[in-house]
Amino acid sequence: MAANCIFCKIIKGEIPSMKIFESEKTLAFLDINPLSLGHALVIPKHHGAKLTDIPDDQLSEVLPVASKIAKATGSDQYNILQNNGRMAHQVVDHVHFHFIPKPNEQEGLGIGWPQQ
Ligand code: C5P
Repeated sequence: MAANCIFCKIIKGEIPSMKIFESEKTLAFLDINPLSLGHALVIPKHHGAKLTDIPDDQLSEVLPVASKIAKATGSDQYNILQNNGRMAHQVVDHVHFHFIPKPNEQEGLGIGWPQQ
């Protein structure tokens, strides 16, 4: 954990978030400034700014959790995005994977979150 990291504070519960999945190594919560309905962030609890700062075993659940979230939304149209460094538009220096659904304009998006 890093004392001044906003996502470490979310992990510790010092800053509120809309958590949708939590395990020993991984946390997922709704993005505070969503690009679409259901925009979520999946993060390893291990603190590190860039992908290469995170040990493999701490990353192992991230994509399976993103997959669970994708299934739970019922959407098959979405982006998974992970930014590293300011030139790549990273703002928060704790590794995070965006899950950004693209809702069907006619049918909307059925939101249901994965079971732990
Ligand atoms: O990949 P990048 O670093 O640009 O994205 C950071 C994301 O973290 C933004 O989408 C922002 O809305 C989100 N965020 C959040 N809760 C916070 C601070 C930032 O969901 N307390």
